[in-house]
Amino acid sequence: MSETDPIRLDGLKALVTGGASGIGHATACLLAARGADVAVLDLDPSGARAPLLGIKADVSDDASVREGVAAAVDRLGGRLDILVNNAGIGAVGTVEDNDDAQWHRVLDVNVLGMARTSRAALPRLRRSAHAAIVNTCSIAATAGLPQRALYSASKGAVLSLTLAMAADHVREGIRVNCVNPGTADTPWVGRLLAAADDPEAERAALDARQPMGRLVTAGEVAAAIAYLASPAAASVTGTALAVDGGMQGLRPRPA
Ligand code: NAD
Repeated sequence: MSETDPIRLDGLKALVTGGASGIGHATACLLAARGADVAVLDLDPSGARAPLLGIKADVSDDASVREGVAAAVDRLGGRLDILVNNAGIGAVGTVEDNDDAQWHRVLDVNVLGMARTSRAALPRLRRSAHAAIVNTCSIAATAGLPQRALYSASKGAVLSLTLAMAADHVREGIRVNCVNPGTADTPWVGRLLAAADDPEAERAALDARQPMGRLVTAGEVAAAIAYLASPAAASVTGTALAVDGGMQGLRPRPA
């Protein structure tokens, strides 16, 4: 570990779910740039180009996850040190707006997806001297956002899962943390804006609601994930690191 550049991942093997787009892709690229060998599990791995190892898998399907993790470990040379549970989907509306099928779907991807992938990866992570899991949570886990009942509940569960897993695996030398992004400039948010009546006005309003006057970038969230995954964070476990431009911590600006 260098004192001037503490986030080095040379020789480590990493797996990123949802790593073909947005935050996951920025993370996979940064981990690779910092020296890790990186496999990506994604429904559509076409966005994960070399040196990333793209593998098609669906985190809502247990057999697909087990096969995908086994294939990733195989292609990474039989080892795994870092798991980034990042794949997730959104849902808009109040508790009255989403039916049971939508609740089951979002919880299946966002919560069970992380549990399944962790279950498949833990036997490999136990053999690592630098084992780390980082989950992509959200400020929605604790912020009380309007029109995000189902999504917030799913991310609240991700936060609780992170803390419980950190406790369960601390004596095995496996650290478990999460990042809580604010609204991040990714294809996901692009899709939401594209569906608005006036995407440009909606984007300007979204920027104006942020304390910094702009959205968080995917690269900024990736940097936090890379830190938590790295040996530089060897004493950090059971934490949620907010990368939200001050959204949770700061008071609203006076009008
Ligand atoms: P994105 O849509 O750009 O990327 C998500 C990736 O996950 C895609 O490549 C997609 O194919 C993959 N994926 C979706 N369902 C999958 C499944 N069942 N199995 C495997 N892969 C699957 O989204 P993003 O904005 O980069 O979001 C990534 C994570 O960040 C999510 O967990 C999301 O909840 C979280 N997050 C995003 C924001 C934001 O504002 N963008 C804010 C807070 C948290």
